[in-house]
Amino acid sequence: MSVNSEIGAGKIVSVNPATGELIGQFECATEDSVQAAVERARCAQADWQALGPQRRIAILGKFQELLHRRKTEVAEWITRETGKPVVEALVTEVSVVLDAARFLIEHAQRLLRDDAVPHGNLATKLKRGRLLREPYGVIAIVSPWNYPFSIPATETLSALVAGNAVVLKPSELTPSCALELQSLLHAAGVPQDVFQLVLGDGSAGAALLQAEIDKLVFTGSVVTGKRIAAAAAQKLLPVVLELGGKDPMIVLEDADLDVASSAAVWGAFVNAGQTCLSVERCYVQRSVYDRFLDACTEKTVRLRVGKGMDPEMDVGPLIHERQLHIVETHVDDAKARGARVLAGGSRLADLGTNFFAPTVLADVTHDMRIMREETFGPVLPIMAFDTEQEAIRLANDSEYGLAASIWTRDRSHGESLARQIRAGTVMINDVVSCFAISEAPHGGVKASGIGRTHGAFGLNEMVWPKYVDLELLPRMKKVWWYGYGQNFRRQMDGFLDLQFARGLKQRLRGALRARGVLSRKRL
Ligand code: NAD
Repeated sequence: MSVNSEIGAGKIVSVNPATGELIGQFECATEDSVQAAVERARCAQADWQALGPQRRIAILGKFQELLHRRKTEVAEWITRETGKPVVEALVTEVSVVLDAARFLIEHAQRLLRDDAVPHGNLATKLKRGRLLREPYGVIAIVSPWNYPFSIPATETLSALVAGNAVVLKPSELTPSCALELQSLLHAAGVPQDVFQLVLGDGSAGAALLQAEIDKLVFTGSVVTGKRIAAAAAQKLLPVVLELGGKDPMIVLEDADLDVASSAAVWGAFVNAGQTCLSVERCYVQRSVYDRFLDACTEKTVRLRVGKGMDPEMDVGPLIHERQLHIVETHVDDAKARGARVLAGGSRLADLGTNFFAPTVLADVTHDMRIMREETFGPVLPIMAFDTEQEAIRLANDSEYGLAASIWTRDRSHGESLARQIRAGTVMINDVVSCFAISEAPHGGVKASGIGRTHGAFGLNEMVWPKYVDLELLPRMKKVWWYGYGQNFRRQMDGFLDLQFARGLKQRLRGALRARGVLSRKRL
């Protein structure tokens, strides 16, 4: 496997968070090597674009086949670098990528083809319009560690199928997963320079932003996202920003409490809570609050925490100690402000340095950090509400707006409440899974980001619209060209009435006044 990085001063180190075992050391790309990678990508992009969608889709098909064949090895790499259970790596990463490829194989040709643009205005009827979808050129992707395979892969596949070259800067914590992606893409037939990796920490990402890229797709924290947006503004560089979340789950009293509590527990603890779409806040109608708390507690204490390589484990470690510290700080703040700990609440030092017990907190309030800041750890904070309007107000009382869920047996009522929530996705009777629906756009509002990945909207982010206008009567001068005068003014006045006046009479009068506009003398 080749890495596009010249030897720089720095190194990144990949460590198994469950065991502390060193997985590998990698040289950081330097500013010069990042620049060179982007230049190579630019040179290679024209031929890639010239291949056309059909041949690029065929390469995607090959990639899908290879990934399917290597699914277990890829999942185990993900587990080694992130700690999550192998089955989770299969379900939430490998499967998502296989299906994203399926979506593009089935739909990219149609979604990327030229569209006719019919004209409604009488003045432009003698033209034919066509919309082309042009690849940007070189798309840079900067990705996080929590889904180190599915996030960069889904974004890369959309960018590539649209005819772009890609330079990916993966998280410094998960370079091996990106190397797996690179080796699969190259083996499938994506030319070496059309997909390249630059490894390193934030400074490699910053160098990529400064290189001659045409668009940046960033997934990560709000803090870094703001930094990137500020730097991109200086260059007027288009960006997609997939940032953090604080997703609310609203449980109405008519919900199936057994199913909803299982969803809350899985949604809060999958990937040890390190999911942008995690259930980070749970609001439960007061009449069923105690029963819901009991069900969540009972299911949480049964979870088995340990190394993701062990198939009997449900929850793995956090990625590193800094993340544990944030979780601990949020839990301690909640406790100090009156929250009740129903399960967990502390580190599991016996298992290793990065393990935290799945935690259920009751009686939380919006004065607590746990309900306002992204915790990104295995904590399920639950709060009671009295009226639905109160639940909606609480759900919207956040700087974030990535996703939300509503739990009710009344589907149409759920849909009407969904309209009142400001979030990129609202799920009715499910959590987290929207990320795995390849047709659904993924992304947020407010501090959760700008733009979308996945689905047709995600593919659209990888192209810019070029409108091509064709004149059908090229030997005719346009009526609106020079040769102005009183007569022309009267004709145009009439022409506007002909098209836009409300009454038929006024339109006909307009037509009379517009007479002769075509034969008018022009310069
Ligand atoms: P992060 O912001 O620390 O890092 C993300 C990436 O940005 C890494 O590759 C990092 O090296 C790079 N980076 C850091 N500084 C940079 C700079 N100045 N310029 C360019 N690149 C820079 O985020 P993280 O800790 O890796 O990921 C966790 C965060 O990502 C959470 O907030 C989570 O909610 C968010 N996330 C969002 C989504 C989504 O789809 N909305 C998905 C997954 C994760």
